[in-house]
Amino acid sequence: YRRIALARRPEGAPRAEDFALKTDPLPALEDGHILVRTEWLSLDPYMRGRMDDAKSYAEPVALGGTITGQGVGTVLASKAEGFAEGDTVTGMTGWADHAVLPGTECRKLDPGTPPSAMLGVLGMPGFTGWRGLHEYGRPKAGETLVVGAATGPVGSMVGQLARLAGLRTIAIAGGAEKCRIATETFGFDAAIDHRAHDDARALRAAIAEAAPDGVDIYWENVGGKLLEAVLPLMNTHGRIPLCGAVAWYGGVDSDTDRLPMAWRSILVKRLSVNGFIIFDHWDHYPAFLRDVAPKVAAGEITYLEDVAEGLENAPEAFMAMLKGGNVGKQVVRI
Ligand code: NDP
Repeated sequence: YRRIALARRPEGAPRAEDFALKTDPLPALEDGHILVRTEWLSLDPYMRGRMDDAKSYAEPVALGGTITGQGVGTVLASKAEGFAEGDTVTGMTGWADHAVLPGTECRKLDPGTPPSAMLGVLGMPGFTGWRGLHEYGRPKAGETLVVGAATGPVGSMVGQLARLAGLRTIAIAGGAEKCRIATETFGFDAAIDHRAHDDARALRAAIAEAAPDGVDIYWENVGGKLLEAVLPLMNTHGRIPLCGAVAWYGGVDSDTDRLPMAWRSILVKRLSVNGFIIFDHWDHYPAFLRDVAPKVAAGEITYLEDVAEGLENAPEAFMAMLKGGNVGKQVVRI
């Protein structure tokens, strides 16, 4: 089978030489396992963290090991109860065209679910937006929400749910086209291009104009210049679900002089800042599907996908995504 291995630990932004396409014999199919042919692979920002040899909430990928990733595919052979040849399943296939996986860690797709949607709007990123918004954002009608990476699978879920809950929603996105998508496709009330504002001060002025009543929820996907822009605009008792900080995934230069300012505004504004990792919340996934799957089927919640073709192109699509090259959920068709 073909797989993409971690050839070298990236320094800063990943480069092509950090990845290697390898061909290896498949492991034997043991009891309790299924052999899956991967048809769709998810590319997610968290994978950048797994490439570092650093202590985190999950083990890093070993050098030479297959890069972590969730896939959807077809069962070719099964020695696990509840799975049969021909089933469509999702599981942690990694960046590989086949995988042998424990049945207990795989899930059959509900009939009618588009396979790639299982990786985005109805999968981990959509669930992250739903769970984090309700649990840590605690939205109330009439409030204002700001979210960065707004056309991605997390940001677009957060924005649409907040709009359905009666909030004013402000998207931050990279480029005019993504801003247009944010308002026209995802229904944000306003969209601001972070690339068109050189520094945090200019970006803050634009957000302040779009948020005349201040910001009650800042959904943190990005960090960097956007965080610096938004913090002073937060209303008292505002909430910041801290989901990610993709602007810093390639490393952080010296930002420490801003830290006392940030810490102080959390205090004086009595902000709730909640870091969370979605893996702690899987017991709520069935409730998410019950709530959101009908809304997706009815078109009340919409989604976009960016499809790269072929396993060999996964590294390039991944590197582009971290810089905003994707429009919507980045998947790879294997
Ligand atoms: P996206 O598909 O939205 O991809 C990342 C996006 O980040 C890019 O498209 C780009 O959008 C934006 N971006 C990159 N660099 C910058 C920058 N310097 N400034 C502003 N924006 C930037 O990703 P997801 O929706 O999958 O994930 C969004 C966030 O949620 C990530 O931080 C991710 O790590 C996090 N996450 C956290 C989870 C958890 O359990 N805590 C679970 C899932 C995701 P644009 O071009 O619009 O700037």
